[in-house]
Amino acid sequence: MSKELSPNAQASVSSLNNALENTLRLLSENMSSQLFPGGITKISVDIRIAGNTGITLDIEGPGSTSSHTGAASAAECAFFVLVSKSIDDLDLAPHAKVGAESLRQQFGSIVVFTSGRRSVDDQARVMAHNIVEKQDRQWIGKTYINGQELQKWVDDHPKAQTQEELEAGLLSVMNTWDETKLGNLSRHLTGAAFDMQPITSDKRKAVRDALDELPFVEANKILENESGVKVWHVPFTE
Ligand SMILES: [Zn+2]
Repeated sequence: MSKELSPNAQASVSSLNNALENTLRLLSENMSSQLFPGGITKISVDIRIAGNTGITLDIEGPGSTSSHTGAASAAECAFFVLVSKSIDDLDLAPHAKVGAESLRQQFGSIVVFTSGRRSVDDQARVMAHNIVEKQDRQWIGKTYINGQELQKWVDDHPKAQTQEELEAGLLSVMNTWDETKLGNLSRHLTGAAFDMQPITSDKRKAVRDALDELPFVEANKILENESGVKVWHVPFTE
């Protein structure tokens, strides 16, 4: 049986919940250059209630340029808010979900998930953002093993210069894709990958070794500690 909180404590918890919910909603609605203007790679959000109760969120921006080439680059992963999510929040496909549950079961709460399934809209926004932010119209081709079709759209539309124009164009291409093509671009698009905070304690090796042993994990595509990036990216077969 769980203990009831006092009415005052309940009010605090509910205010904190509301404050957090509003903050996270605002952040997710503005995950773009407005949130991370040039040069800023990290922001801290401090939410305080009645002076004492509160929480601090550290949020990583696109960060430094990574020349990593992979199905999903670590730089891309770091764009997403580093906030702990429940396994259900991640909306994972079966193989990735079993993997996440296994990790949680083996290591408990030291495993902090930060990202799971990602929408096509989010994907288009991140890519458009990176092209504009890094002033690199070849960014997609350099970043994604299976990005040729999207890179071609960018090459064929030199007049598309703003993030909005690029985003709309990339979305128009991806909206014609089936699940297989989406998953080949980024496992996040089909729910077949999750990101987690790197383990820095003495459990680091044990957790990292366990990742390689998860059923259906694409062990050779696990990304960690890419230049300045603070997530481990763990992809699975569909
Ligand atoms: Zn990832």
